[in-house]
Amino acid sequence: MKKPRALKRMILAVRLAALAFFLAPAAGFAADGTEASLRIGLAYGANAPSSCEIASASGFILAVPTADGFLAGMPLPAYTRLTVSASGGRTMLHADGGVLVSDDIGAETCVLSHDYASSAPILYEGVPYRGGLSFRPNANNTFNVINRLGVEEYLYGVLNSEMGYKNPPEALKAQAVAARSYTMCNLNTHADDGFDLCAGAHCQVYKGYADEYAETCAAVDGTAGLLLYHSGVPVSGNYFKNSGGHTQNAEDVWTAAEAYLRGVPDAYSPPYTWGWQLSFRELRALLTAAGEEDPGEVAAVFVSERNASGNVNAVTIIGGKGTVVLEKNRIRTVLGASNVKSLRFTFGGALPALPQTPAIRAVGADGAGPLASGAYVLSADGFGVLETEDAFIEGASGRVRASERADAAGGGQAKDEPVTGDSVTFTGSGYGHGVGLPQDSAIEMANRGYDFRRILMQYFTDIQIG
Ligand SMILES: [Zn+2]
Repeated sequence: MKKPRALKRMILAVRLAALAFFLAPAAGFAADGTEASLRIGLAYGANAPSSCEIASASGFILAVPTADGFLAGMPLPAYTRLTVSASGGRTMLHADGGVLVSDDIGAETCVLSHDYASSAPILYEGVPYRGGLSFRPNANNTFNVINRLGVEEYLYGVLNSEMGYKNPPEALKAQAVAARSYTMCNLNTHADDGFDLCAGAHCQVYKGYADEYAETCAAVDGTAGLLLYHSGVPVSGNYFKNSGGHTQNAEDVWTAAEAYLRGVPDAYSPPYTWGWQLSFRELRALLTAAGEEDPGEVAAVFVSERNASGNVNAVTIIGGKGTVVLEKNRIRTVLGASNVKSLRFTFGGALPALPQTPAIRAVGADGAGPLASGAYVLSADGFGVLETEDAFIEGASGRVRASERADAAGGGQAKDEPVTGDSVTFTGSGYGHGVGLPQDSAIEMANRGYDFRRILMQYFTDIQIG
């Protein structure tokens, strides 16, 4: 449809006015403390809309995100509600009654509440968010909805979803540092879709301004800017719900080993058990649906490898046409992470045994450590391991009798026998990937009086917090 000449002139005027604002000397730079450093995907992929509604009680303003904040551009105070739509790579804004406000705001331009400098949120489909919204057109006339805001503001909207606001303050602070570290080490996770992190469990659950509580905001503020470091480098603060009694080495779940992501015995873990029955017919269907080889009719299933902590490293499925081996995290990916809640399971009806004696992790007086792995207590003459019944060592996981040697770990694991018939029953403990900070244990430690630094040092090896 051809646009009337007057309308074309108006659109051109809006564009020029916006350009003039954007090219003005750096007057609008972040003097108000707002930030735009993060890009959080609210809707993308199959959920990318072709149109959406945004609202703000004080009206809107267009702005360009910069390294320092938002560079304010075209004000639109007359509208409290706008419809965003995409066509031919352009992102359009319409007011009520179909009045065209802009025929292309561009993929990088943000729409903010007119009072954004006073932290007034902007509503996307009725849900309020801090910072601004940008709309990145896709080829199929849909667009990705991206929330631009600062790291600390983002964490305000993350913490309650990842650890409820009613939990103890020191646990919330440990969670805040872990989430901040995860954020800073996983920027550009969704670079192909034009943003850093998604708002779902794939990255970190983020629900925006409406999910902020005084308790969770205090935990973010009380740890402002703090990150985990290993050898002077910021590291990702991986976390999960429940360890089942032992956390995991990164390489036992994913691929690469990380010196700060080592499995540790977890005496603070509250019990969490689960079970799941899977028919052999459904098992075959899940394998082929996930792109694995078709084993044919399944005849037997067994745990073919465990690590020293007792968690499953590999499951072997034997069928009429062949054998399929699922390893590490692939087991949960293929069978469903909400079905196989952890890699700590058996097919025998009993929970996997923990290593009989926790490995000793000597920690310095300041809580830093460990001083050594595989520590032994030697007798005074330096020969032999002290066997005195009365001697105790204070380890990271509690008091250990000196006569209980660390090399006893790994004993007592029942042998994994193949399961035949037509189904297999999982019996497991723990929930999540098992690497890094177990949230249930952080809460338990906080309840026992430990502070957030001590909690983080319990589960991240050789880290500094700064
Ligand atoms: Zn994600």
